[in-house]
Amino acid sequence: MQLDGLTAFCTASGAGIGLATARALRAEGARVIATDISEDALAPLAGEGIETHRLDVTDGAAVAALAESVGAVDILFNCAGFVHHGTILDCDEEDFDFSMGLNVKGTYRVTRALLPAMLENGGGSIITVASVASSIIAAPNRFVYSATKAALIGMTKSIAADYVTQGIRANAICPGTVESPSLQGRMRAQGDYETARAAFVARQPMGRIGAPEEIADLAVFLAGPRSSFITGQAIAIDGGWSNT
Ligand code: NAD
Repeated sequence: MQLDGLTAFCTASGAGIGLATARALRAEGARVIATDISEDALAPLAGEGIETHRLDVTDGAAVAALAESVGAVDILFNCAGFVHHGTILDCDEEDFDFSMGLNVKGTYRVTRALLPAMLENGGGSIITVASVASSIIAAPNRFVYSATKAALIGMTKSIAADYVTQGIRANAICPGTVESPSLQGRMRAQGDYETARAAFVARQPMGRIGAPEEIADLAVFLAGPRSSFITGQAIAIDGGWSNT
């Protein structure tokens, strides 16, 4: 299998894209260390040959302690993120700090904690889940979310440039709309579920919402040797949304 002998560390593995990716990495032979803020959400993975640890990426001490105990990994999958709904005027300073703290600083914190051992170990692949709603395209009511995801693309490119000669590759996955518990919540929050769902579907010219497993397939590719010449890229996977 393409990831035999490799160790993957994943955040936000309890649902959606993170859950599908932890399973896909394991299915390709990786040893998977799956983390999430919710211990309950991780419970099913424990019976699937996946190591699980509760981890809130906004908790610096917890991130440092787990990174220390885990040591060198070959694959880092940064998935933790929150979607704030609204414009700049809907986003007060608390909202701004929460999204920046989770999406941007959480990713920075986990990557910075794991990178030294990856470098000592000869390198690895860092994959960060951004979004097409970022520096790629605009989406209405995604003010601070898009700012955080654009920041993740910038961070990815910077890390890729700084460590390209030391065996590190860093790439960002930029999904369009993907089925997940939080997407369901965003649809319900709009009041009329069917109308909201139709609007989310319509964003993709393919006329459907993506499956988490489709994103996981790209993550597996970026994690392993088949993508060995790819670094510093923000790869859209969005049913054609950003092509319109
Ligand atoms: P989701 O939002 O439904 O679930 C995310 C998981 O993150 C949950 O298990 C939750 O417990 C965990 N989590 C929340 N806060 C955390 C924290 N502080 N530390 C660790 N884990 C935490 O899943 P999703 O919609 O697949 O989103 C995953 C990632 O993909 C996010 O970064 C999101 O922005 C990104 N993304 C999602 C979509 C989409 O349409 N679903 C599109 C583009 C990008």
